[in-house]
Amino acid sequence: MDFSLREPERELVELCRGFAQNEIAPRAPAAWQEARCPTDLLREMGRLGLLGMLVPERWGGIGMSTVGFVAAMEQIGLADQSVAAAWQAHVTIGSLPLYLFGDDGQRERWLRPLAEGRALGAFGLTEPDAGSDARAIRTRAERHDGGWLINGHKTFISNAGTDMSFGVTLLARTGSSGDGPPRYGSFVVEKGAEGFTMGSKMRGIGWRGLDTRELYFDDVWVPDDHLLGDPEMGLSQFLRTLEVGRISIAALSLSLTQAVLDLATGYARQRVQFGQPIAKFQAVQWKLADMATELEAARWLTYRAAYLRDEGQPFQKEAAMAKLKASRLATWAASEAVQIHGGLGYMMDTPVARFYCDAKVLEIGEGTNEIQHMVIARALGC
Ligand SMILES: Cc1cc2nc3c(=O)[nH]c(=O)nc-3n(C[C@H](O)[C@H](O)[C@H](O)COP(=O)(O)OP(=O)(O)OC[C@H]3O[C@@H](n4cnc5c(N)ncnc54)[C@H](O)[C@@H]3O)c2cc1C
Repeated sequence: MDFSLREPERELVELCRGFAQNEIAPRAPAAWQEARCPTDLLREMGRLGLLGMLVPERWGGIGMSTVGFVAAMEQIGLADQSVAAAWQAHVTIGSLPLYLFGDDGQRERWLRPLAEGRALGAFGLTEPDAGSDARAIRTRAERHDGGWLINGHKTFISNAGTDMSFGVTLLARTGSSGDGPPRYGSFVVEKGAEGFTMGSKMRGIGWRGLDTRELYFDDVWVPDDHLLGDPEMGLSQFLRTLEVGRISIAALSLSLTQAVLDLATGYARQRVQFGQPIAKFQAVQWKLADMATELEAARWLTYRAAYLRDEGQPFQKEAAMAKLKASRLATWAASEAVQIHGGLGYMMDTPVARFYCDAKVLEIGEGTNEIQHMVIARALGC
């Protein structure tokens, strides 16, 4: 097993390091205050090819490996978690259903603009009564007038409401076979479609720059070519997409942990109490040493899940383990980093407080950590 980066991956990491440090990081404090999705930065990332990360060149992407994507995320997430969150949602759950399950016409029409960085993708699964239990969605798509009539309500949907958004790929019930299980299909609904409206941007504890909204579908009619693949396979299409999203959240968690470790180490070395830097106290040293050790362990899990995907091997269990381990680590490490900063770390405008607020959602999005436990336990045969 070799996780060492190849030449294109190394170049990508350098590109992301420079862009993150020079363009994203200086704007992070203001972006946090403004709580607005920085689409100008995302457009710039698009011009650098970063929005088509996991899409082959044929469809306008750069065909990067998953390992390369994780390594790139480690750089982007260090600078600003909101930008990184919007970016990763676009690259994985926002784009992959179109690539993996769309036909060539659908890829040309919707995937290419996403991969070329001209538009932002969104993934519409969650509903007010269906989060962890995806099968419980109520949004319906019914055959009507040679197409489909969609009615329903989605919540917490990221990237659908910005000035760069193209619309959403959503999951809807398409029927049930008598008394058998319900069937689901994946549909594209474009921005501006009649009957498609959305609420205002929701306010989270962290990820303040991420545009997350409620979406409403009131007799939205779409033609047949807006259905991705089989009208009965939507649920498995969405669940497969989430597996990649979990690697991405794990990578985001690594970047957050690295960021708070760096901040805490720097602060500990310069903050003097009892006549010496607090980094001289063993209690502080052990926190930092534990963070660094756990980070290395989480990194190996995450790169291994990415490597398995690149090798075309099953990676569902490993992606769940990576997400579980790395997101738990991120919330713990962020809390310890605030502790090392003392009262200063509690103040909202410090970078460490920003990361602390950004950390919690990593244990919730793309399947809560309880759901990751279920996925892992199922893989163990439970
Ligand atoms: C900032 C943000 C962005 C998001 N972006 C998107 C997006 O772009 N697209 C999208 O579709 N969704 C998105 N989501 C939704 C997210 O995926 C869901 O919030 C998540 O899946 C959990 O669903 P829920 O909130 O309904 O919680 P629930 O499913 O109601 O869970 C509540 C609690 O019960 C626990 N629980 C539930 N079932 C079980 C069980 N069987 N065993 C043990 N514990 C259980 C959960 O783990 C959790 O702790 C986003 C959420 C946030 C916060």
